Amino acid sequence: MRFSKKLERIPPYLFAEIDRKIAEKEAAGVDVISFGVGDPDEPTPASLVDLMAVECAKPENHRYPSYFGLPVFRETIARWFEGRFGVALDPEREVLPLIGSKEGIAHLALAVLDCGETALVPEPGYPVYAMGSLLADASPYWLPLREENAFLPDFDEVPRAVLEESKILWLNYPNNPTGAVAGREFFAGAVGFARDNDLLLAHDNAYSEITFDGFTAPSILEIDGARECALEFHSLSKTFNMTGWRVGFACGNADAIEALGVVKTNIDSGIFTPIQLTGARALDQEHTVSARMTELYQMRRDMLVRELSSLGWKVTPPRGSIYIWMPVPDGFDSVGFSKHVLDTAGVFFTPGNAYGPSGEGYVRISLTVALERIVEAVDRLKAVF
Ligand SMILES: *Cc1c(COP(=O)(O)O)cnc(C)c1O
Repeated sequence: MRFSKKLERIPPYLFAEIDRKIAEKEAAGVDVISFGVGDPDEPTPASLVDLMAVECAKPENHRYPSYFGLPVFRETIARWFEGRFGVALDPEREVLPLIGSKEGIAHLALAVLDCGETALVPEPGYPVYAMGSLLADASPYWLPLREENAFLPDFDEVPRAVLEESKILWLNYPNNPTGAVAGREFFAGAVGFARDNDLLLAHDNAYSEITFDGFTAPSILEIDGARECALEFHSLSKTFNMTGWRVGFACGNADAIEALGVVKTNIDSGIFTPIQLTGARALDQEHTVSARMTELYQMRRDMLVRELSSLGWKVTPPRGSIYIWMPVPDGFDSVGFSKHVLDTAGVFFTPGNAYGPSGEGYVRISLTVALERIVEAVDRLKAVF
């Protein structure tokens, strides 16, 4: 059997490898405490689970859902967006429900890129921006995120020749994996850069509701001119502890929404109707969930920052997302440190180079671990280091 050349360009999915490594340890009898995958550990609110059960029982919800999303879900998204960011969206033309934002992020590449073209992709970063490009037979051009630049890309570094073959610019703040946030001034610069260079600006705002120390994340669509060039991705996964449900949305530029819709109508058939109805309820009525989760993540963050610092490690508290991005101690590289911590303490931190070459020298520590397990992990680390 022969497979496509595209697949040969795709490295193994990071978390599949991580799961395998951890499974090996567990098979050997180690009680691994994993700070690896960023998957909220708290359950979906009971009111949402109850609504889902009711809607699941209705035969009319068992048929194909509407391709472009239920009108009531799109309208609820637009209402939530206006309440949260002060931006009014047309629910018909500027909002598109997704089967999780990852689905839309990957499919957008098929709507925008042709063979041999380029996507500007920040690194370290969420792998899907680059993988989507490869699946579209295009290539990522890396925009390094460096600590000395507050993990923001420097657009002036992109060579003119690269800009000429580039069609899309990816951004993600609050950022996975660095925990960095960006303000309106940065986004205004990015919008100007995208418009000057005829780029679609795709902003992944999956962590918009998880920020710390009084910072509130803006939407890129708040910026003047953004509606002409930008698409923003939102996810209910982290905001409402709904990662398994697979529901998110894209919003912004109407032409880009339409193009993404063409790809989607030919590949999927929309989101299961009860999930759309539950998603609408979440956006309408569950505003306290992310506030409660943020408080919990902040407690975990503060304990980890305090305890890891006491080991002599250099830890900066993130202002958003659910990750601590920590430089590895002297004498280690990312993989070496991650392996050492797993072998000696049964604790797993994700090696930073898995998110791109500029992630070398860091590990990512996810805050989705219960406090008592964090205490246990810290005790083990203190015994080793
Ligand atoms: C978790 C995450 C997503 C989202 O996921 P879905 O569950 O597919 O909505 C998107 N972007 C980033 C950066 C993430 O960390």
